[in-house]
Amino acid sequence: MLDDSHSRRSLQRQLKVLLDEARRNEDKLQRLQALELLLLGAESLSELIDMLLHRYREDFGLDAVSLVLIDPHYEIRRFLEDENSSIANNANLIFRIDCDAMPENTSSLFPSLGAYHARQHAELFKLAHKELNSVALLPLVRQGRVIGCLNLGSHDSRRFVNGSGTDLLERLTAIVSICLENTLNVERLKHTGLTDGLTAVNNRRFFDQRIHEEVERARRHQNPLSCLFIDLDYFKKINDEHGHQSGDKVLREVAGLLNEQMRRSDILARYGGEEFAILLCNTNLDAAEEIAERLRLTIQASPQSGINHEEIPVTVSIGVATTLPEKDAQADNQQLADRLIARADEALYEAKKAGRNRIHLLGDKY
Ligand code: GH3
Ligand code: MG
Ligand code: MG
Repeated sequence: MLDDSHSRRSLQRQLKVLLDEARRNEDKLQRLQALELLLLGAESLSELIDMLLHRYREDFGLDAVSLVLIDPHYEIRRFLEDENSSIANNANLIFRIDCDAMPENTSSLFPSLGAYHARQHAELFKLAHKELNSVALLPLVRQGRVIGCLNLGSHDSRRFVNGSGTDLLERLTAIVSICLENTLNVERLKHTGLTDGLTAVNNRRFFDQRIHEEVERARRHQNPLSCLFIDLDYFKKINDEHGHQSGDKVLREVAGLLNEQMRRSDILARYGGEEFAILLCNTNLDAAEEIAERLRLTIQASPQSGINHEEIPVTVSIGVATTLPEKDAQADNQQLADRLIARADEALYEAKKAGRNRIHLLGDKY
């Protein structure tokens, strides 16, 4: 009798443990499904990364989450910069040139779970590594290729144990990999519509979009914003003497030279045929003058070559204009942008009229 009730109680206890575990698993699965739906609905690359680094960590009680992305051509970083996303500077977002540059264990195709070792893992968890005791490194794989790695860290040494089941984690990483590839493809598509086919720099459409954002930002921070209009001198003559193909080559190379001289915050675009525009954020007229003169001298000092390797000397004329939004509080953003462009264009016209291969400045007085 005593034995009977004892074993019944023991059975009940075991059943309760199993039921509790089943409930916990059910709950985990539901949270995972909710997260997966969120990830699949991410509308941009930065939103997706933000969900992984923040939402995932909070919803699953993790102590650290970091993401390694393979970005050999700086493409992902450029997309994030163009989105003006602060996530690009998050210490938990790590970029690597290739898989060889990944820390040990993260370059394999398979998840790796186990104890935290500072020597191996510290560089993956820059913000939290002191207290971590177990980690899961989950490679993100598309078409047999590692495109990154999602890294999870916990204070609990039993949370990620070598040899434990990884089904749910593998399912999550498969979804993350697909989402990552999709949002990257969307970014690529956006960019092809905003990039000039010949020179690979931004096109006028991109410039017209960005100048509004930059005027708005300049206004918010009360910063000066400068604009350069750069036009190749006597380019028609270059085409006539060396042929259109050589003209194209010169355009490509001049675009490359300008691009090399840019700071990260500057925005370069091919504005028209042989005309480029540059926006210089938080730059006053004096600083813009210096930059314009440096660009002019760089191009003058870099003779181009045609398709038959013949030397083609090239010079540019540059119009420089600056706006100080606080001095023109009445104008709306559209008017400020239009005026800045018109002034830079007017300045360019003056530089041409004065003999070419020179810069001309127009400040913020309208
Ligand atoms: P200026 O010093 O006054 O600017 O003289 P310019 O000859 O450069 O200016 P103009 O406006 O008379 O001629 C511009 C030329 O640029 C004419 C056009 O055929 C050429 N051009 C425009 N787009 C392209 C292009 O994509 N490729 C080539 N090869 N030429 C182009
Ligand atoms: Mg010209
Ligand atoms: Mg022109």
